[in-house]
Amino acid sequence: MYLRSLLTFYNFNFQLFNFNVYSQLMNLEDIKGIKSLLSIPKKIVIVPHRNPDGDAYGASLGIYHYLIKLGHQVTVVSPNECPDFLKWMPGADEVLFFENNISKGTEILKTAEIVFTLDFNALHRVGAKMLKVLEEIKPVYILIDHHQQPEDFAKFTYSNSKISSTSEMIYQFIEMLEDLSKIDKDIATCLYTGILTDTGSFRFPATTSQTHRVAASLLDKGVEHAKIYNKIYENSVSRLQLLGRALSNMVVLPKYKTAYITLSNSELQKFNYKKGDTEGFVNYALSLNDVNFAAIFIEDRKQGIIKISFRSIGDFNVNEVSREYFNGGGHINAAGGRTEMSLEKTIPYFLSILPEYEEKLNNTHE
Ligand code: 5GP
Ligand code: MN
Repeated sequence: MYLRSLLTFYNFNFQLFNFNVYSQLMNLEDIKGIKSLLSIPKKIVIVPHRNPDGDAYGASLGIYHYLIKLGHQVTVVSPNECPDFLKWMPGADEVLFFENNISKGTEILKTAEIVFTLDFNALHRVGAKMLKVLEEIKPVYILIDHHQQPEDFAKFTYSNSKISSTSEMIYQFIEMLEDLSKIDKDIATCLYTGILTDTGSFRFPATTSQTHRVAASLLDKGVEHAKIYNKIYENSVSRLQLLGRALSNMVVLPKYKTAYITLSNSELQKFNYKKGDTEGFVNYALSLNDVNFAAIFIEDRKQGIIKISFRSIGDFNVNEVSREYFNGGGHINAAGGRTEMSLEKTIPYFLSILPEYEEKLNNTHE
């Protein structure tokens, strides 16, 4: 058993060394270090990014159940609330929302000996309020994430932008610790949910044979995949009507093989917007024939920003566009960012950068 997982691990590393410039691996020293760290009960906090998605939550709750099994005192502290469609997840009721209870969140973080940061590459992705506390405390940080260019704040960094999801990486992480036998139905359900959502139901290019192998072994642990799918993707009437509005607002720019969607605050109000309702809308724009680049611009009055999601097909790098012009980042084919302008000013600004990318947009390669 040990030999088999060692071989898998080396083989796994070998692939990464050859093909992945963005990966930062756990070597045997790291694994030994983490094993010894986890060999005595500790106070552990797990932190997903602000506005957690299915993967951030799946990875966090997956490792939460695992660490509890090891006998640790564990709390998931999410910077803010999760969308309703994740609230059914095993352990979701135990999550502390930092921005709803800053004094308790601060107290727990201050006593933490280990902090796992999951599904984000830069500390500021927890939002300004929680960032202040994270910068003050000195726990052992363990970063596990699949976004490019991780910041260097953690004692242990496991980063690989080629892996579909942080949840898939948590499975690998538990495998490196030679503890796959501890994965039970709850852990498997959380990790499967993260993989399902971050791969767009196993259809995005980052979905590999390894992703399917991990998913298969999670099914063997009792995951009820059809139930999970329904819980994640079931709709409300108002959400479908909001989608209708988003689609009728869609603008297609054939010259740039680009399509974008806007949603103003008043439109969100009209359709009774709830957190998470716009998840996946941008993919409709990307599904158009002859569109390689899609964007959605959503007005967030409360924060005074326009929140943007970018998606692309092939080698058009939306992470670059987002970093360069929209204070954001992400992956090659999926990124997000923001502006502090009005929606009316953001759109012309977006249109003004397209000529720079015209050639790339018309010559993308899958
Ligand atoms: P989404 O469009 O679904 O919100 O995000 C797509 C990807 O981009 C996710 O992997 C997410 O982590 C990343 N992302 C979204 N918004 C931001 C942002 O404001 N800054 C950075 N650095 N990444 C973002
Ligand atoms: Mn993710």
